[in-house]
Amino acid sequence: MKQNHEALIAKWIKPAVQDLQSYHVPDAEGLIKLDAMENPYGWSDDYRKQWLDSLKNADINRYPDPHCQLLKKSLRQTLSIPNNLELMLGNGSDELIQIVAMAVARPGSVLLAPEPSFVMYKMISQFIGLEYIGVPLTENFELDENAMLAAIEQHKPAVIFLAYPNNPGGNLFDKKTLNKIIESSEGLVVIDEAYHIFSDASYIADISKYKNVLLMRTLSKVGLAGLRLGYLVGDKQWLDEFDKIRLPYNINVLTQLSAEYFLQHYHELELQADKIISNRQTLFNELDSLEGIEVFPSSANFLLFRCQGNSAEQIFNSLLERGVLIKKSHGSHPLLDQCLRVTVGKSEENEIFVRSLGSALVEK
Ligand SMILES: *Cc1c(COP(=O)(O)O)cnc(C)c1O
Repeated sequence: MKQNHEALIAKWIKPAVQDLQSYHVPDAEGLIKLDAMENPYGWSDDYRKQWLDSLKNADINRYPDPHCQLLKKSLRQTLSIPNNLELMLGNGSDELIQIVAMAVARPGSVLLAPEPSFVMYKMISQFIGLEYIGVPLTENFELDENAMLAAIEQHKPAVIFLAYPNNPGGNLFDKKTLNKIIESSEGLVVIDEAYHIFSDASYIADISKYKNVLLMRTLSKVGLAGLRLGYLVGDKQWLDEFDKIRLPYNINVLTQLSAEYFLQHYHELELQADKIISNRQTLFNELDSLEGIEVFPSSANFLLFRCQGNSAEQIFNSLLERGVLIKKSHGSHPLLDQCLRVTVGKSEENEIFVRSLGSALVEK
């Protein structure tokens, strides 16, 4: 029987999909979870009760509002989206990346991104059948301006994705270089601001200066990863094209109502982000003082660090044995050799992580 399946799969599933590795999410049961850039703070019982009350009358027998009109209004108000820009919502920004990629995919068209960056740009290109071009960053995870401009000239990408701040480097790319990339590209440039709440820079005021720029954000890293809500901001004409291939009910009733509730309490999320930013500084200083660790400055809610020698794998495993799950970036890209990435957690979680890392360093 099994062989039958294999033969059929080999025959019918397209090779680009057969060759893919599915996105791996490790089991975090019982571990201190510092691997996925989640906000570690929950909500008090009072808030939870109000939130659940806001869902009480949900018309769960009905399809959701396909245009999310109320939710878009809240997003606009809470996040000060300029009135001349349109909004499109996705089931996480992952879905928005997929929609943009599907809309431009035709034989020969290219999606370009610097690397290492967010893995979904490449994964989605591969399964959509869009050619993916990755342009290596410099050793400090900055944009290599000449290499980017040359690649744009050569490949004429339909779309370029730039994460600002970048993941996994955590840094903000140089804005002059970003502008040059936008100006020398005929295709679309999507600025992915998944981590904007932890950063003091944004592209939002600049998008209307250009015909080919869209901004993408998500509520995930802000503290609502479970809701799956991302949004694309930009010129209405562009978004109207993408909206044609968005599945009509991509944002479910519970997400629409919950997001509206939490947007009314966005200030709480901003306070949580302030705590995370302050914890990031503490954690940075502690990692920076450890012998055998090189930590990179970050404008996001995580820190990338390099372990001296060939110790990343061993340190990652040793942390796991001590009950701490972080992300092994080592092995995913040559520039990330011996690198690990840790999400900034609550103070007590960060302390356990630093202590465990200290022990792991002594052990090796
Ligand atoms: C996490 C992340 C996303 C994905 O966000 P979702 O809205 O949860 O799908 C997008 N871009 C970058 C750079 C990320 O790190």
